Amino acid sequence: MELHRLIDPTFDLEGFIIYASITIGILDSRVNFHEAEEFLRAAEIANYNAKEQGLQYPTVVYDPSIQIKALERFHMKIELRQAISEQQLQLFYQPIVDLSAFQVLGFEALIRWQHPQRGWILPDKFIPLAEQTGLIIPLGDWILGAPCRQLSIWQYQFLDYLPLSLSVDLSGIQLHERDIVSKIIHHYQSLQGLQVTLKLEITESMLMINTQTIINSLEELHAVGIKISIDDFVTGYSSLSYLPDLPVDSLKIDRSFVSCMEKEKCSLGIIQTIITLAHTLGLNVIAEGVETVSEMKILGSLVCKYKQGYLFYRPMPPHQIEDWL
Ligand code: C2E
Ligand code: CA
Repeated sequence: MELHRLIDPTFDLEGFIIYASITIGILDSRVNFHEAEEFLRAAEIANYNAKEQGLQYPTVVYDPSIQIKALERFHMKIELRQAISEQQLQLFYQPIVDLSAFQVLGFEALIRWQHPQRGWILPDKFIPLAEQTGLIIPLGDWILGAPCRQLSIWQYQFLDYLPLSLSVDLSGIQLHERDIVSKIIHHYQSLQGLQVTLKLEITESMLMINTQTIINSLEELHAVGIKISIDDFVTGYSSLSYLPDLPVDSLKIDRSFVSCMEKEKCSLGIIQTIITLAHTLGLNVIAEGVETVSEMKILGSLVCKYKQGYLFYRPMPPHQIEDWL
């Protein structure tokens, strides 16, 4: 920590304030290594781990389990690259319901990876890796294009039954891409004959860096008719002050609040506050992760119109959606 304190402070370089920071990987000299390269590689692995963890004082002491994890990540990165080119990725679709109108409002597209050996892998296991390695850019392009192509196929088969909105999760890294606005608009235009609303789900933490640039991009997208939803509202970084400046259409209540609301007054209070806030600002509100009838009833009594959860439908692959439609 002392080293960090010495090196981390900002310094002035010919009038420019420079922010420097270090990450430290430490190796205990008693390890059973013989070659200098083995020591260096282990220290580098510990250092890399320190970088990844986003600690305040990034220092990690090497232990063999780190090396195993690093190897696993290395393999997964190669496999994920292949997965994109070999079409092992698939979007599942989870319906969002409006019980008051006995209607399905739309679908949220959720990615899955069908690994040739390990079977289905959920996004929490590979989206963070894709974000750290930059693979989220080609992956994100695919994620935007695939549901648009799927809907254009379905429109001929199920014209009268297709729900009206399609929600796609956007990663923060994608939003910082230079040509992201034109890419998204290009995909959106492929939906235009279909009367389908494209909704982008973003998290509040995406607004932490380059807030004004992100708001400008969202405004451009909103201007052409694309809707914006704030996902997992108030679960992480949250600043209510920017909400009125954002072209937002809906707030999503995270499953962590819904699943605890019957046991914890605090979760119920947060849900009530989000719903009141949404109504005051004229926004829609969607509760995620509804699993029980009593959760559904409580949310109904709080006038939360839209719901998503296993109680209604699980995310389904396209062929199941076709049977269901
Ligand atoms: P999220 O955006 O909050 O998505 C909702 C997650 O809750 C999904 O998990 C969904 O399957 C799950 N879920 C829905 N209803 C219930 C329920 O009643 N009970 C329980 N236990 N779970 C429920 P999933 O598909 O594993 O996705 C996890 C996260 O991965 C997503 O959270 C999202 O942050 C990310 N993700 C998923 N697909 C994509 C994608 O295409 N692009 C990006 N950038 N992120 C994605
Ligand atoms: Ca989402």
